[in-house]
Amino acid sequence: RAQEMGVEEMGYVLPYTLLHGAVQKGLANSDVKCTYGARVSELRHTHDAAVIEYQHQGQSHTLTARLAVAADGGKVLEVAHPPQITDYGQSGVIAHVLTAQASTGKAFEHFTPQGPMALLPYLDGYELVLTATHDAAQDMLTWDDAQFLAYLHNHFGNRVGDFLSIGKRSCYPLRLKRAPDITFSHTALIGNAAQTLHPVAGQGFNMGIRDAWELAQVILDSAPENIGSAAMCAAYRQSRRLDRNAGIRFTDGLVRLFSNDAPLLGRLRSAALTVLDTLPLARKFVAKRMMFGANG
Ligand SMILES: Cc1cc2nc3c(=O)[nH]c(=O)nc-3n(C[C@H](O)[C@H](O)[C@H](O)COP(=O)(O)OP(=O)(O)OC[C@H]3O[C@@H](n4cnc5c(N)ncnc54)[C@H](O)[C@@H]3O)c2cc1C
Repeated sequence: RAQEMGVEEMGYVLPYTLLHGAVQKGLANSDVKCTYGARVSELRHTHDAAVIEYQHQGQSHTLTARLAVAADGGKVLEVAHPPQITDYGQSGVIAHVLTAQASTGKAFEHFTPQGPMALLPYLDGYELVLTATHDAAQDMLTWDDAQFLAYLHNHFGNRVGDFLSIGKRSCYPLRLKRAPDITFSHTALIGNAAQTLHPVAGQGFNMGIRDAWELAQVILDSAPENIGSAAMCAAYRQSRRLDRNAGIRFTDGLVRLFSNDAPLLGRLRSAALTVLDTLPLARKFVAKRMMFGANG
């Protein structure tokens, strides 16, 4: 509850286009030079710089910089430096749904043996994030609207009233992906490029924002000639170590605890939820971690 945590809201659901627009507006009012629609084909390092090869409007370009920030979800570096991958055998199915009861701004998460499914209040209805095995998710994509709505009603009951309509479905494989524990000189990894998390706890984006924030602090604390140095890049990685590892362990633990129908785990699950429900201090601790991370 937001009041219990002393914050305005526990969280916000927003479309990327809105976020992107706000960032673009901020950049337009700064002296940062931006190139949109470029495709990076290579990121390599020399002794004193990062070298970025990219294509833009049909032309190839090379850029050198003392520090490159990889925020590409991990694609460019992972061929040469493969990440550690934990495949949960799950896919996420996303869709917008409308329900008979108007949203009151409350999110719902329901745990099934196949994986969690969440309804996040958004615009005139909810964003559905549903996890299932890869095969089951592919099967769901073939369902017509009526079959999908009946399935949702079966799982969520009458909490949000009848499910009235469902929009276009999209599907993503869900994995934990960790960039290797290497300090790349002249390069810092943020967001999905550093760690791609399962969405069960809604932590991936928050973690990426904290990566960017900490990187900015480390840059501000560095003498200009040290920006991009091995020491600066190592200091950034060190500053993210605790929060990153805690976020990965927390999310990974939740996936394993809540996507499993072993009877013992069922009891552990109920015990964990009861503790959160009855002990305000435990609830506050977990909520604070989820909002501000382990360094917060
Ligand atoms: C189903 C689902 C639900 C989620 N729900 C939540 C949630 O509730 N809360 C939360 O905090 N997080 C959530 N997440 C996680 C969140 O989406 C990610 O943490 C976030 O998208 C990471 O952002 P990013 O910019 O680091 O990487 P990405 O979103 O992967 O973006 C990478 C960008 O780099 C671009 N790119 C890639 N390659 C190149 C290249 N070669 N050259 C130029 N550009 C390139 C891509 O086009 C893309 O725009 C969810 C994720 C999924 C899959």
